[in-house]
Amino acid sequence: MKIVKISLIITAFFALALTGCEETPEEPIVFEATEHQFESLLSEAQIDYAVPAQVPNIMVNQLGYLTGTDKMAIFRGADVDGVFQVVDADSGRTVLSANIEDRGYNALYDEYLSYGLFTDLDISGRYYLEAPAVGRSFFFSIGDDLYDPLLLMAGRKYYLNRCGFPLTEEYAGHYAREACHTGEALFWDDESISLDVSGGWHQDAYGNKDTYVAAKVAALLLLSYELNSAAYTDQTDIPESGNQVPDLLDEVRFGLEWLMKMQDTASGGVYAGLSLDAQTGKAYMEPASAAATKMFCAVMAKFSYLFQGFDNAYATQCLRAADRAWRYIEQNHGESMDETYFFAATEMFRATGQQSYHRIVTRYLRGDDYQELFVDTLGGAAPDGRQEVIMLGAVSYLLTKSRVVDRELCSEIMKTILLFAEDISARSRISQYLTAANEKQDNNNELLADMLFLSVVNYVITNYEYGAVIENHLHFFMGRNSALISYIDDVGAINYKDIDPRLGIMNQIEENAKLLFMLSGVTTGH
Ligand SMILES: [Zn+2]
Repeated sequence: MKIVKISLIITAFFALALTGCEETPEEPIVFEATEHQFESLLSEAQIDYAVPAQVPNIMVNQLGYLTGTDKMAIFRGADVDGVFQVVDADSGRTVLSANIEDRGYNALYDEYLSYGLFTDLDISGRYYLEAPAVGRSFFFSIGDDLYDPLLLMAGRKYYLNRCGFPLTEEYAGHYAREACHTGEALFWDDESISLDVSGGWHQDAYGNKDTYVAAKVAALLLLSYELNSAAYTDQTDIPESGNQVPDLLDEVRFGLEWLMKMQDTASGGVYAGLSLDAQTGKAYMEPASAAATKMFCAVMAKFSYLFQGFDNAYATQCLRAADRAWRYIEQNHGESMDETYFFAATEMFRATGQQSYHRIVTRYLRGDDYQELFVDTLGGAAPDGRQEVIMLGAVSYLLTKSRVVDRELCSEIMKTILLFAEDISARSRISQYLTAANEKQDNNNELLADMLFLSVVNYVITNYEYGAVIENHLHFFMGRNSALISYIDDVGAINYKDIDPRLGIMNQIEENAKLLFMLSGVTTGH
């Protein structure tokens, strides 16, 4: 009864709002690109980047190594043997000498590689490596909290990419700017209707936004918060800092407020996105889609139970929006047994405890889709986006505190994700750069997908080897790769920004969420 009344009020409000918007929006919609906007996910960066002529043949993590962890450099060259030195950059003194270990020929880049281990050096400082036949490495550090600034930067990247929101100098420094993309968007089938859908995070440099992507990013951030909440403070220097709510949740709420605007108040369906006509500069609403509505449902439900202790009224509003989305799916698409439907059902079950959702969850976990896309994929390609969604739902089911949770299904899930982790570790062991994607060493997006899985497993069973594999991937991202490029903002002597801005991990909205996930695990010890 109550819900009917609310939806009547909303319908009336919606009708009222629409009558006021029949003219073309007064304010022109300007889609300017700024340096800090997330780069397009659609334009694939070229791998044949130009590398500066003078690159050392010693590959290190150009930020550095945490104290108490394994430390290793990779040397390139056919005649590299003997010993190498680690030199204190300030005093010029050699602090450690060790043997170079031959690792043989790497056909992928037509190069001979060797390893230099210096784990024994565990004193904070700034260093470089030197070897007679190879020369010197770039500088790097050893320290306790070296990766904390990266975690902060990756989290703040969402604040700096807030759309339709003014960034003040106080919080954004030289990235300060006026609110952007504040004009209204037109309906695809009737340009006389327009809607205020400002807000959310940029996804590319033009202002296009995909609802499914935005909701999935929010879901990744929420799982990271749920597993590694100690990594997230209320002091990351965003406008909401100091409000007693972890800043990551404030940021997700900012994203969710935009998602709410993308839900059709009458039907509960969620518009698939906002696309821009490059010629006219007009923004268009895309029709509601099943995938966007399901992902919306999942993340709204998830946020509702995680946010309940901070703002009960807003949490309830989110759950109500999730419920409307769920009913839209049921009415328009029936029981569609795909991964996003499963994820939505899992989160609705966790948020409400209702048996009807649990029945869908267990049916999916016993079905063909789950078997084929998840259980049987070992040894194949790196997990694709659909597997990630299954993982989001499956892990959430594992975390559900309810007597009705099926223990047998939970142990099946555990078994499968452990096999994933073993597979990723095994691939990393045989790779000369110690990363999971053997044949495509520079496909960072596949590596990040693997690290998302491994970070989740490492939370469940914290394991020395998994921790080391995750750190080796951070070393790879920060310069211990064949091109000696750092793909992380403000890190490294050869930074991706000097080569191709699209290569930056933090410039890609979904990849940045996975990086944040990794870093939240590393900085909290799992
Ligand atoms: Zn904008």
